[in-house]
Amino acid sequence: MPTIVDSKPSPEFTPITLTSVYNRNGASFSGDELADESLAGKELSLTGENVIRGIPFRLGGVEGNNLLFLRDSAVTLNFDAPIICHYLVFIHTAVTKRDAPDEDGITRPPRGRIILGDKVAEYQILYEDGNEQSVPIRRRFAIGEIRKDWGDECFSAVPLTKPIAIPTVSERMSAGEPPGPFFGNSQTRVGSESSKVPVGYWVYALENQKPDQAITGIRFVPTDGALLILGLTATNLEENPLRWGRRQKALITLPKGVNIGRPDASGRYPGLGIDLGQIISVTPRLDYDNAHWSDGYNNKAPVRVENQFVVEYCAHPAAMFTIASQDKLSFAVGDCRKISDEETSSLKPINPAEQDVTIKVIEAKSGKKVAVKIHIHGEAGEYLPPADRHRIPNPYWFEDYSADYIANGVHFCTYIDGETRVKLPLGDVYIEVSKGFEIKPIREVYNITPETTEIVIEIEHVLPWREKGWVSADTHVHFLSPQTALLEGAGEGVNVVNLLASQWGELFTNVGDFDGKTNLGSKEAGGDGEYLVRVGTENRQHVLGHISLCGYSGRIITPLTTGGPDESALGDAVEVTLSQWAKQCKEQGGVVVLPHFPNPRCEGAAAIVLNYIDAVEMTSWGNLYGGIDPYSLSDWYRYLNCGYFVAAVGGTDKMSATTAVGTVRTYALIEDGEFTYDAWKEAVRAGRTFATYGPLMEFCVEGHPMGSRIELPSTGGTLNAEWQLATVTVPISKVELVVNGETREVVSVPPDQQEAQGSFSVRVDKSSWIALRVRGGYADKHEMIAAHSSPVMVKVDGTEFFAAADAMTILEQIEGAIAFIDTVATKAEAKAYKAVKMTLTSAHRALHNRMHNMGVFHNHSPMDEHEHPHHKH
Ligand SMILES: [Zn+2]
Ligand SMILES: [Zn+2]
Repeated sequence: MPTIVDSKPSPEFTPITLTSVYNRNGASFSGDELADESLAGKELSLTGENVIRGIPFRLGGVEGNNLLFLRDSAVTLNFDAPIICHYLVFIHTAVTKRDAPDEDGITRPPRGRIILGDKVAEYQILYEDGNEQSVPIRRRFAIGEIRKDWGDECFSAVPLTKPIAIPTVSERMSAGEPPGPFFGNSQTRVGSESSKVPVGYWVYALENQKPDQAITGIRFVPTDGALLILGLTATNLEENPLRWGRRQKALITLPKGVNIGRPDASGRYPGLGIDLGQIISVTPRLDYDNAHWSDGYNNKAPVRVENQFVVEYCAHPAAMFTIASQDKLSFAVGDCRKISDEETSSLKPINPAEQDVTIKVIEAKSGKKVAVKIHIHGEAGEYLPPADRHRIPNPYWFEDYSADYIANGVHFCTYIDGETRVKLPLGDVYIEVSKGFEIKPIREVYNITPETTEIVIEIEHVLPWREKGWVSADTHVHFLSPQTALLEGAGEGVNVVNLLASQWGELFTNVGDFDGKTNLGSKEAGGDGEYLVRVGTENRQHVLGHISLCGYSGRIITPLTTGGPDESALGDAVEVTLSQWAKQCKEQGGVVVLPHFPNPRCEGAAAIVLNYIDAVEMTSWGNLYGGIDPYSLSDWYRYLNCGYFVAAVGGTDKMSATTAVGTVRTYALIEDGEFTYDAWKEAVRAGRTFATYGPLMEFCVEGHPMGSRIELPSTGGTLNAEWQLATVTVPISKVELVVNGETREVVSVPPDQQEAQGSFSVRVDKSSWIALRVRGGYADKHEMIAAHSSPVMVKVDGTEFFAAADAMTILEQIEGAIAFIDTVATKAEAKAYKAVKMTLTSAHRALHNRMHNMGVFHNHSPMDEHEHPHHKH
């Protein structure tokens, strides 16, 4: 038989049994009586000891009468003994009643679907002294109906079940639970416990006007309509027991060995409960080392504290927490007093965030409000988001594209346009503001008092790279709306965000945002031209590789994916290669990037040999400290060794809030003239770029910037390579000069030194590429490759850029692409298949011929044997 126990019972209540007035069994109703045929014979009653919204009710037994059906005549309940109370709490509901509309369908006068104010009954409180208090029970005030329609809530009563904080589908799945049916709904993280009875009951707290007088009973008097009365409880609480307070937080320290566990599907923690309220969340306390907050670096992760949790809840002031089902570990929320005798266990209130404060971020020199990334926490490490931002950002793939960022899994941040409103607690709050690599990130402590209404934060543009003509870019961002991408780009100091539409199996993203022309944020599009978003596409094949087509004009280049799962849909043929996509992109004026280079590692080789690739992308994903991957560099170097110039760019492949736009980014030098998206494309094509996680560089060989081509006579020469570095984020540790892939020179830089410069003298005897590689990292992290320039290509007359071993690996990779097309790739119709084959064959032939011209006699694959039977091996 149905029973609801939604927590331990609050000790503040005295259940009053209605046994003497119950006149029906819950399963005995006809459809007529309930004005609802579907309810005929259904079990409508709860039985036994129930705890509803933390309030105990002693209901009827399973057999016999367990409901008071009030319709025709008054019923008097005489208490066993007189009671004194402030509130009488009823569980009841009214049978549906409707006004009939006129013939034209209009109801006159319209009192509402549930007839608002219609008096169903009177509850008369009988006092010992013979007086009475009569309380009207009116629809939508003290009582609702057995069917609750959307928007017909009660004004003075609440539904039977508690509202709950629910885990999202992904959170449930990661806890090994079934996902539950509603992914989208789960994102709201709120719901209601499901009811165990098929009718809606309403819980109503009737205020006793004479709380000092003994009550001997209640007379239930029906007026118009019928109602079901299920239960009654009395309390001496002076505040309405159904009214919960504002959201609060408390810091719970648990005794050793006590574990509150993970929330179940209803958001309930096995080891932590609350009666007159609800637990919203329980999160490990984050220790930000607040005493040294200003010394910490941007995005530095806090430490999770064991056995301390921030509990977020909303509750009646008389509510009690129960921890680990141990009665002695119960805490009243009203005073959060420590009642455990164990020193290690306590409950401390955290100052509520109720002071409304406007935060403005100003760029010092211009005095203008500027977009930034911001993080705020309070004294217990609790995150304090702006009013219009997630309190709990979602880290999962393709679940939420909010303007939030989660660093290191726990450090929550959001992007604002330079001004925001946030509710802050009194006391100290800790604010972090950053805006890319040229502005010194700020970590400040602010003391909030009842007088605080505004905080103005000044940031300073300290590294003059933008003034010198450099602009930054992320070549690879997914899912964000263009406008959110613009905000995040500006907040990260990223001048160009390439937002890439794509296909993922049967899923298409950002395709509606592609128009092949608009540079959002440009002056033509109504912006100030400093931050731009352009929608391009990432076209993908899971074996051949992915290719980013940035900033092309005209029609979208399709198919966005080919060749079946997992990038394309099942049954899609390989209709087109990366090289063909790239060719079309160049014809439409775009820039072509091999993203997250080199994987998937296959046909990119052909596209580079065919000269369709402008740049290779160094990728970060969510990792702030991995640096530029030596694997990516190894792969890139071999193309440079063979004279295939492709620039280095940085792009994040951001697909969730765990990656910040521009974590690794491209710096491109705009030569003479205004910064526009077209000028950026030109700079990337020319290779005037470096990729970086923070350190900024200038690098020239004989005065020529990265990307330049220099010619020397056959005698070669000695060249001067000049460099200059600066950083306000990731500390620099080493500067390396790379010549033809080998480390030629190394200079160490002390970690506290924010700027460094120098020059190397480079002897060059044969055609060589020269680049600058920078290592660095935060003191508590591994050293990483923090930045890398595109090379300067030095051609020495009479010598080729060529490395036989590297050429062989490139050729083999192209042969891999051909083998895939020849064997297991889903075959396109004849014409497309032929074009695919021809593209790959031409790349193979181009490199193969070049190798033979260089006198490289290599081990031919069987394919070559077939093509060149004259070779003997
Ligand atoms: Zn990709
Ligand atoms: Zn991607």
